[in-house]
Amino acid sequence: MSTFRAVRIDVQSGAQSADYVEMTEDELMPGDVDLAVLYSAINYKDGLAVTGKAPVVRRFPMIPGVDLAGRVTRSAHAGFAPGDLVVATGCGLGEAHFGGFAQKARLPGEWLVKLPGALTPARAMTIGTAGLTAMFCLFALERHGLSPADGTAVVSGASGGVGSFAVALLAQAGWRVAAITGRPAEADYLRSIGAAEILAREDFSSPGKALQTQRFAAGVDTVGGATLANMLAQTRFDGAIAACGNVGGMDLPASVAPFILRGVSLLGVESVRPRINLRREAWARLATDLDVAMIDAMCEIIPFDQALERARSIVGGKIRGRVVIEMR
Ligand code: NDP
Repeated sequence: MSTFRAVRIDVQSGAQSADYVEMTEDELMPGDVDLAVLYSAINYKDGLAVTGKAPVVRRFPMIPGVDLAGRVTRSAHAGFAPGDLVVATGCGLGEAHFGGFAQKARLPGEWLVKLPGALTPARAMTIGTAGLTAMFCLFALERHGLSPADGTAVVSGASGGVGSFAVALLAQAGWRVAAITGRPAEADYLRSIGAAEILAREDFSSPGKALQTQRFAAGVDTVGGATLANMLAQTRFDGAIAACGNVGGMDLPASVAPFILRGVSLLGVESVRPRINLRREAWARLATDLDVAMIDAMCEIIPFDQALERARSIVGGKIRGRVVIEMR
């Protein structure tokens, strides 16, 4: 049986470790589709998984990697045939089911989406969970009835993966975008992907008044904590913030004042559950709405042997845009 290379997280006597290993196909978990993984990507959750900083991994051993794009090599699923190029994100990959930091994967077909024609596997991984989550945030704001005519949209953690795609997608949809960043040096990058205004992270990261000057009609928050509370406090009547992340904390030191006095809404967004129809809709729109030059500008491609080191560094907030792993 042929072997393949993978990053594997193990636990021994309560201590977690992550390393490169050789594995065989019979060690893969159940699924009706086999893939040659072509690209994966590094997400904040992968950083938490490989460092053990949060209990992301729900069974050991585990191959991390919540995102993967690959070519089907075997399929017992009616929707896929050998040669198809597919993408999978979330669905417990890298948490409860072996994920993308490996040259091979075996998955249930209902987690897979065929790549929309315009997207290469590398571009699909540049988008990955980050872009899909940002797209779900935009869906949430649009389904709430908000549109660019309502005012400015604010994005926190703007130079990160989800944040970059939120900036780009909102700008592409016609919104004026204000980007909150802790890295002033990324201002040119943020403007290049669609930000009209750059706001300093420190102006949002300390507790503020329950109601503040109304600046934003909508927003995407990847940070949580005081940042989200301040975004809510600065949201206009009937506006909404889509909250999807917690890099600044799990708490929400907020007041009900924006909700009950301004009709502001907090929209929760998660992109882990399969919900295949929503995923197909999101991937189709990502393939048409995003300019490929912009996708490429957000992407840094690294070889597989650097994946573990770079995954460890994402929890320090040191990654800009998306780091894509080439498996070959
Ligand atoms: P990244 O590390 O790529 O981006 C996070 C960004 O947040 C950083 O680039 C930085 O941007 C900013 N940041 C970092 N640390 C802090 C801090 N302490 N306080 C305030 N801002 C900070 O991560 P991702 O984009 O991959 O993920 C972002 C969040 O979204 C994570 O919490 C992740 O778990 C969550 N997520 C949730 C999903 C869901 O289904 N709900 C799916 C995917 C991600 P800058 O320097 O510009 O300020």
